[in-house]
Amino acid sequence: MNKGQINISTENIFPIIKKFLYSDHEIFLRELISNATDATLKLKHLFSIGEAKGTYGSPIIEIKIDKENKTLHIIDQGIGMTEEEVNKYINEVAFSGAEEFLKKYEDKIEDTGIIGHFGLGFYSAFMVADKVEIITKSYKENAPAVHWTCDGSPEFTIEKADKKERGTEIILHISEEDKEFLDEGRINELLLKYNRFMPIPIKHGTREEIKTDDNGKEEKIIVDNIINNPNPAWTKKPSELTEQDYKDFYHELYPTQFDEPLFHIHLNVDYPFHLTGILYFPKLTTNLDNQQNKIQLYQNQVFVTDNVEGIVPDFLRLLRGVIDSPDIPLNVSRSYLQSDAAVKKISGHITKKVADKLNKLFKDNREDFEKKWNDIKLIIEYGMLTEDKFYKKAQEFALYPTVDNKYFTFSELKEQTKELQTDKDGNLVLLYASDKDQQHTFIENAKNKGYQVLLLDTPIIPHLLQKLEMENEKVKFARVDADSIDNLIKKEIERTSILSKEEQEKLEKIIKENVPEEQYSVQLEALDTDTMPFLITRPEFMRRYKEMSMTGGMPGLNDLPDSFNLVVNTNHPLMEKILKAKKNKEKYIQQALDLAKLSQNILTGKELTGFIKRSFDLM
Ligand code: ADP
Repeated sequence: MNKGQINISTENIFPIIKKFLYSDHEIFLRELISNATDATLKLKHLFSIGEAKGTYGSPIIEIKIDKENKTLHIIDQGIGMTEEEVNKYINEVAFSGAEEFLKKYEDKIEDTGIIGHFGLGFYSAFMVADKVEIITKSYKENAPAVHWTCDGSPEFTIEKADKKERGTEIILHISEEDKEFLDEGRINELLLKYNRFMPIPIKHGTREEIKTDDNGKEEKIIVDNIINNPNPAWTKKPSELTEQDYKDFYHELYPTQFDEPLFHIHLNVDYPFHLTGILYFPKLTTNLDNQQNKIQLYQNQVFVTDNVEGIVPDFLRLLRGVIDSPDIPLNVSRSYLQSDAAVKKISGHITKKVADKLNKLFKDNREDFEKKWNDIKLIIEYGMLTEDKFYKKAQEFALYPTVDNKYFTFSELKEQTKELQTDKDGNLVLLYASDKDQQHTFIENAKNKGYQVLLLDTPIIPHLLQKLEMENEKVKFARVDADSIDNLIKKEIERTSILSKEEQEKLEKIIKENVPEEQYSVQLEALDTDTMPFLITRPEFMRRYKEMSMTGGMPGLNDLPDSFNLVVNTNHPLMEKILKAKKNKEKYIQQALDLAKLSQNILTGKELTGFIKRSFDLM
């Protein structure tokens, strides 16, 4: 037996490893299985170039728990190590790597979010073990097997072993405080989290299977329980996969998700970086909680994280699926990651791919694309708002639906509306509604004039309209209830009131006396006789800013009071009635105000009860 000192300067590195990575102890298993996978893939490569003798066979990696001895075993059939190699890779290289890592990040202990993504390599074993053994036999002929042992001090022993088959067995003597890792269920959970798509079959225990022989006789047999799918869909070529394969893979990724994805994008990049993956557009509900962070990031089929913040643009975090890239630097902090040039390129590339795919779907089958619009609009609008490149590309396929379910692109919309909806100053006024029921009266008014009314109802619409107005000169958006329709699209015509100036002044005074001043500013307008006597409107500017502040990005405007205008139609016959009435003046005004509220679905509670009572009185 040989004894030696591991090549480090820190007296005892293990307590630091333990303490430092406390919250992410579980990653040791991923690290060790990654090593076992690498060792197996290296062997495969050696066979492929004729450097190894014998047969490659079909090697697996086995994970075994020995409850009695409190050990966890990771066994591979890969290239193994000679004594020299153990000395070199385990005693010198690996340790210095771990030490360097700790030195670099000791002061960043708080940044736990990223710690799980670090590869501490072999030495992460000491996060959970008091003692670690390696029994390994190299694929090289005549190389004797060796047995390395280290108990958590910088001292180790190395001796001959009698292992016959090539490969490496790592034995972890699990420490008392980490005994959860001796639990089959816990290990199974970890294997499913980190190793579900690793390229070498991973065995964890056995299971029973029913086999039918040629005579139809059923027989129970015991088979290896392989927990992973070594050939996940994203590692295959798109030409090898059917629509159903993609759907099946979606369900494999999200076993508890019962919806079907709308469509997928298969990513496959070789240059200037490597990246593969499949992204799915899910049907989104309007509740955005819980819908982010469904994309899983892999590095060569090893799960890294499902928080892809900073790696894919924000709006694409609403997508689902897998991204796999060996080029994403993982041993760095998140802020570094976000500024990394390779990551920026990856992010730009994914954005472009998504835009191209949407464009193709739109061009190939517009009808189908229109049908899917409501399910995908949020992602597209969010992308237009936050990524300039995407905004430009989206001009081709972003849709603006009308309240009557017609779908226009922006240029079609401008073309459609330019004749009727250009106001006297040459602005194109695009009308929209956010709620067909609540704004019904206003929508009908606008439609009666032949105007197009869009239905734009996602929470980020106020922001997007702001951007569209900035990018398009002389285009203004106005919600149908922002003012009377004639004021929204002001034409040259001077409208005249049937009331005289004196009558109007008198009317204004009476109305102001009867409606709460702090709630409404009264505005007299000579509208058509068939327009309602009173309209409650909310000026576009104030309302939009308030909505923007509610969905973020506009601090401080949240506490602004709601501002409503009470538009009084001086041409409505009711006005003369109010002016001439001896009694019931207030009742008429109250009634007209309540009807205006009722038409917008905002008459509730006490007010509604009051309205009903007054209605009977007036009858
Ligand atoms: P890394 O894998 O990043 O190189 P590790 O600390 O995990 O760092 O491992 C150090 C080295 O030890 C590896 O590069 C490899 O040469 C060797 N090694 C570790 N595990 C195995 C294994 N299961 N089979 C063969 N060699 C291994």
